[in-house]
Amino acid sequence: MAGSTDGSKPLRAIVVEDEDDDALLLLRELKRSFDARCLHVSTPEALRAALADGPWDIVISDWALPTFNGLEAFRIVREVAGDLPFIIVSGTITEEAAVEALKAGVHDFMVKGRFARLAPAIERELREAETRREKRLAELDLERQRAETERSERLLRSVLQAVPDGVVVVDTAGRVVVWSAGADAIFKMPRADIELADWPRHYGIYLTDRMTLAGGGDQALVKALSGTEIDREERFLRNAQVKEAWLSVSARPLRASDGTITGAVGVFRDVTHERATQEQIMISDRMASVGMLAAGVAHEINNPLGAALLNLELLDEMLRREPARRDDADLRETTADARSAVARVREIVGDLRIFSRHEDPTAVQADVRSALESSLRMAFNEVRHRARVQKDYQPAPIVDGSEARLGQVFLNLIVNAAQAIPEGNIDANTIRVATRTDAAGRAVVEVSDTGSGISAESLPNLFTPFFTTKPPGIGTGLGLPICQRIVVQMGGEIQVESVVGKGTTFRVVLPPARAVGPQRSREEAPSRAPVSQRRGRILVVDDEPMLGSAIRRVLASQHDVVTTTRAVDALERLRAGATFDVIFSDLMMPQVTGMELYARIREEFPDHAPRVVFLTGGAFTQSARDFLARVPNPTLEKPIDRNGLLALVSERVKAPSLPPSKTGT
Ligand code: ADP
Repeated sequence: MAGSTDGSKPLRAIVVEDEDDDALLLLRELKRSFDARCLHVSTPEALRAALADGPWDIVISDWALPTFNGLEAFRIVREVAGDLPFIIVSGTITEEAAVEALKAGVHDFMVKGRFARLAPAIERELREAETRREKRLAELDLERQRAETERSERLLRSVLQAVPDGVVVVDTAGRVVVWSAGADAIFKMPRADIELADWPRHYGIYLTDRMTLAGGGDQALVKALSGTEIDREERFLRNAQVKEAWLSVSARPLRASDGTITGAVGVFRDVTHERATQEQIMISDRMASVGMLAAGVAHEINNPLGAALLNLELLDEMLRREPARRDDADLRETTADARSAVARVREIVGDLRIFSRHEDPTAVQADVRSALESSLRMAFNEVRHRARVQKDYQPAPIVDGSEARLGQVFLNLIVNAAQAIPEGNIDANTIRVATRTDAAGRAVVEVSDTGSGISAESLPNLFTPFFTTKPPGIGTGLGLPICQRIVVQMGGEIQVESVVGKGTTFRVVLPPARAVGPQRSREEAPSRAPVSQRRGRILVVDDEPMLGSAIRRVLASQHDVVTTTRAVDALERLRAGATFDVIFSDLMMPQVTGMELYARIREEFPDHAPRVVFLTGGAFTQSARDFLARVPNPTLEKPIDRNGLLALVSERVKAPSLPPSKTGT
């Protein structure tokens, strides 16, 4: 192998030798095979200093030295220069010493003077050192990679720990390989390495409408494994605490660089709260629009209705006063019928208007029976072609809450009952409404029908918003959820029992009112209007001329009444010097509103401002509501009650008399 060196290969060597001759011999030998640059040392200190002055390719050391030996030199080399190649060249070495040196890691021995092996041995040492160096580098690289992998795994773990979403990764066999802390929170179960086919059962996730998912092609991750991207919201039941939850689910296939699917990732987020909020908004939107419509209709009907009612009452009184007609039974019956028909319209209008009221549900008390009655009246049209109504009223306590809202609950239940019964067979069908008090002292209201009944599949979904079996345009699926919300707000509950083909009973159970306040009654006891001493001067401003005339007729016998349909007209009269004891002004008029009229009166005729009484018809804008809350003036609600009107006027006219009007009224 000596020939294999071309003599020009560079070699930086330290020669550890105490004999100068031997050192020279060795140097000469080295120079024959290499382009050698050598340093000759003979003490440990010199060796250390030389090593520190590196770099070197090799150390060639004598075995027996006066101050130290080859083994020591070897240790110093290892200590200072690590893996630097080391060869011993010695005149004498005992077998034991050789064994000791080999054990310590010395690679080769050479006998002085026989240098034929020297160059190949050095070459081999250098080659091996190079291999060792490469291996070390490769190991370092591997270690770096391992550290890098560990670092990114740690990062992934902390991300999965931190994100609130449930992140689940499965491999192609459906084994769960990533399971985030958020997934734990959502699915309420610890991680386990299980097959996808099993995981719904393990993690307690069930779709309420499809109880078995195992292996089902409809499952988001399974779909993603087959290459489909999924984004949807799903309803789940958590089996730990059977509580419904809505999850937003996104699933994607994971692909290798060549496009083959290697697994799937699913991101799950609990959106139960968001959905509830969204539903709440939809429900209140619907309530608001129903309320506005109802209030608008009520307002339109109120004016002519008020006029009709006042006129009928007047007619009744005129008849009573006329001796010739007083005993005409036919005539009395006719007017009585007309009055009760109008009174019914007035009740319906009242029912409509309760939709638009903004009441604090806890501030009022309700009579379940009167709410039920009002709902029955409103549902009359739905019911009358389908079933007979059977009423079974037993005493029930007054409850805390708004009667209007309770009426809405019963209306929904009655309309649902009617819609479950086909038209045309009235005699065979019954809608039964019942009230009673249960053993715990709560009010119980039942609405039962002999309709279609509710299937076992539909039963659990009745109170879920948008669940409906009715065709679009008829069913919105919001009725029962609204009912439930109202009833729960009132501290009560709704129960349902149903037999398919036989019928359904909805039961509303409500706790009794905490403290029974004065019972509100729609029909206030009529108080006879006291007759005032002097004739008052009254101005009526209302865009409905019939209402003005009716008021005039009611008051004419005791007071002087001027009516006008325009606010500007009223102002002109005041400007011309007319004075009034009472100015009735409609609140909502097309050109100048009652609020504007009031502002002008306050400015120009401040003494008349307190004499304004507002007539209100139900269609309140927020600004009208604020206005009424702000001013001290009284309001009269339309349709106007005759006795109330008379009482209010005589009360006001009794007040200190006004200076006589200049122009008269
Ligand atoms: P909607 O009436 O708009 O469908 P609801 O929430 O009031 O919404 O009712 C939801 C569903 O419950 C109805 O579509 C119907 O299938 C069922 N349901 C409610 N009440 C009855 C009843 N009395 N008889 C039969 N089915 C009923």
